[in-house]
Amino acid sequence: MQLYEHTAAELSRMLQSREVSSVEVVRSFLERIDQVDSYLKAFITQTPVTALDTAGEIDSGRMRGENLHPLAGVPVAIKDNISTMDLRTTCASRILENYIPPFDATAAAAVKRAGMPILGKTNLDEFAMGSSTENSAFFPTRNPWDPQRVPGGSSGGSAVAVAAGMAPLALGSDTGGSIRQPASLCGVTGLRPTYGRVSRYGLVAFASSLDQIGTVSLNAFDCALLLNLVAGHDPLDSTSLPGAVPDYTAGLEPGTKGLRVGVISYSSTEGFDPEVTETVQKAAALLEEHGAEVGEVSLSLTDYGLSAYYLIAPSEASSNLGRYDGIRYGYSAAGDNIETMFSRTRGEGFGPEVKRRVMIGTYALSAGYYDAYYLKAMQVRTLIRREYEKAFKKFDLLLGAASPTPAFKIGEKIGDPLQMYLSDVCNITDSLAGVPSLAVPGGFHSSGLPLGLQLTARPLQEQLLLKTARFFEAYRGQVSLRPGLEFIEKGGGSSAV
Ligand code: GLN
Repeated sequence: MQLYEHTAAELSRMLQSREVSSVEVVRSFLERIDQVDSYLKAFITQTPVTALDTAGEIDSGRMRGENLHPLAGVPVAIKDNISTMDLRTTCASRILENYIPPFDATAAAAVKRAGMPILGKTNLDEFAMGSSTENSAFFPTRNPWDPQRVPGGSSGGSAVAVAAGMAPLALGSDTGGSIRQPASLCGVTGLRPTYGRVSRYGLVAFASSLDQIGTVSLNAFDCALLLNLVAGHDPLDSTSLPGAVPDYTAGLEPGTKGLRVGVISYSSTEGFDPEVTETVQKAAALLEEHGAEVGEVSLSLTDYGLSAYYLIAPSEASSNLGRYDGIRYGYSAAGDNIETMFSRTRGEGFGPEVKRRVMIGTYALSAGYYDAYYLKAMQVRTLIRREYEKAFKKFDLLLGAASPTPAFKIGEKIGDPLQMYLSDVCNITDSLAGVPSLAVPGGFHSSGLPLGLQLTARPLQEQLLLKTARFFEAYRGQVSLRPGLEFIEKGGGSSAV
């Protein structure tokens, strides 16, 4: 077994017992990246030199007997909308193509403080707007299970990095599903924590009332390790939650006895692959067999969730993205006067999906339409929150699919925004409600592609999500969760698509 095939927990143990050095671990991941990333394209920027430097420092520290963090020396990849000091942070946009932040996001600073070597910055849909990573201004990322297919998005690069053994852990961001949907399409575990649990400071803003940094990992325990590191109050983020952070790795013994689980029933399953629905039903039956009380929960407002989200998120985006005017940040086009300069900068710097969102958002916020669109959407959001509160009076946990279909083909939906938006239908209401939600591998489609389950809990109940994910892991059996990547190893890489 190669070092890059290990989980973060295993690497942590091997490093602490000095079976391996961090330099060896990092080298193994760098070799893997060299082997497969020119084809899969998970990374926008790779940072092998600084990763090896950090690894070397950690190894020397360990030799000197320093008291190190459990994740010290375990490498990580970071989505390229999380600011990293002195390291290019592009948001996969031309407008920030050469932007080098003068500061670290709080989550990035935590990773550095713990001594985790950063392998690089991962690809995403431009400004995290999208569900396939095809909206990256630079290149799409491929799904390692089938290179003709998308990895999901917007944290597609982070999901692929972990699924293909290019990083044991990754940070992503989830506004309306951007961690959970790609995790499920790539067969890995993705957590969107409770809104406010992880600081948003330094996460480039898309829709501030929904944006949340979270984790991508091979399993729930690794997720807990990384969550321990990044969760917590941050005075630099006014929406960050106060209060102590539990040890997420504690109390994870898979136990489902007496757990009240509500299986989400959608008013329409149009667009759902029947095998997805079957996987959810099987998961529910498994829980019931092991002592859980399983019932049905119909979230009648999920239908409206999508419409509300696609008004609220673009509205916030249109305001947040106003800062890219060619003066303070990034790309700047020449112009005879300030107006042409602004419009050229934004016209050339933003891709089509970003422009679409800015236009939708500006329209929804404009005088005369505000009440009809933005305000209505916010009222729907309140109703959705209440519906969740009601559901959580009856159930401890909600179970559903993490995506209505397995990974779709590259190019299949990119020309039809509405179809693309519909692929978020399972994820969006959790985001609007602000509750924690986790995607865990649930099985395989007959096509061989992974399918994910989505678990949702009350605010700050991340431990329950992790514990239940562990239950599913225990019953997963011996099925390999790693994509074969034979198409690359056979050398078919560059011409396969
Ligand atoms: N796919 C959704 C969108 O395009 C969610 C993206 C995200 O969570 N960042 O808005």
